[in-house]
Amino acid sequence: MTSVDQRLDRVRGEAAPCRHNARTIAALTSNPGCRRRAILDSAGVDKQRIATHVGFPAQFGQSQFAITRGNTFEAQVKADGCAELLRLLRELLGLPISEASYTDLGRADETDRLGPQSPTAQAARHSRSRDLLTESTGSSALFDHPLLQLSVGGQRVYLEPDLIAFQVAGRFHVVEIKSFGVVDGQADATKVSGAAIQAAVYVLAMREMLAEAGHDPETVSSDVVLVCPRDFSNEPMAALIDVRKQLLMLRRQLARMERVDELLAMLPADLSFELAADADGVPTRPQQVLEGALREVEARYAPECLAACELARFCRHEARGHTAGLGKSVREALGGIDRVTTVLALASGELTPAEDQTEAAALLQAAARLRAEVLSERQGTPA
Ligand code: SF4
Repeated sequence: MTSVDQRLDRVRGEAAPCRHNARTIAALTSNPGCRRRAILDSAGVDKQRIATHVGFPAQFGQSQFAITRGNTFEAQVKADGCAELLRLLRELLGLPISEASYTDLGRADETDRLGPQSPTAQAARHSRSRDLLTESTGSSALFDHPLLQLSVGGQRVYLEPDLIAFQVAGRFHVVEIKSFGVVDGQADATKVSGAAIQAAVYVLAMREMLAEAGHDPETVSSDVVLVCPRDFSNEPMAALIDVRKQLLMLRRQLARMERVDELLAMLPADLSFELAADADGVPTRPQQVLEGALREVEARYAPECLAACELARFCRHEARGHTAGLGKSVREALGGIDRVTTVLALASGELTPAEDQTEAAALLQAAARLRAEVLSERQGTPA
């Protein structure tokens, strides 16, 4: 275990770590400048519990109904060694194959013995995934739940598997099974976009795995297969999605992330998000202490956080009064003016702009004049 791992363990406390999956990587890269999320995710801290304990429980995520429906649909598509999935793939890719082997990499002896979160068990699962995926050539094969790794902020993180890798004629396709419906050939664009980014995370991780083993990473196709229910039925259908754009974006965002070891070096040595609970399951740590720990790590709230991060309501509250909380376009348009009160004072002319605020102040005053004119016209009085 490295000193960074030990430090991250201390940051997390006694709880078992929450591991990354494609969804968390996609969310992390949507706000690569947020040090708070980078540290909490690297340490595997349960952000949902933290948010609840500081009084801002997360208000997003799938309902229990949606989770159950998703699991049922996935089980149906994977039944009988993925027979239905193989039929869909055959039709979609125009393949003459009649059968493919099916291997579930989600299980390993070490997992049964040591538990799924044990580092030894995860290393064993990852190494088995790597061996089977990199040695697999020739005959068609489906690999369910391969445990992959990705470099995030200078750390190698495991990706909890939620995909099937389909190998045919020496080429891999990532298969994502989602339970949102495709009605009359149309699906919710936001959901498709989210699925495409998640699939791109897996493509990237599989390419890293192949490259490290000395294979051509381009063997993993950027055309991923999305399987969804058709119309309002449970009948599955498959479509190819080109994720080249998402791959470029992910690479760029991952490269923009700061290194976790450098972030840790800036933080107090005793920083901890320990949430040890009493006999009733209630965290014993005072709320203010936990809030203080959160504030030690700089955040970068943006309205998009509301759909992507469990801590969004806490961070929004904290960002109140700051222009950053109004979104990237507002922040950029205001050219670095940090406080909303400063913006209002510049707009009204109460505050003389500093040299670097002159341009923004002129725009703000023009906007304030325009607003006053519109309001007075509505009220029927001359400006
Ligand atoms: S909600 Fe807070 S911790 Fe999460 S990404 Fe946004 S700013 Fe960072």
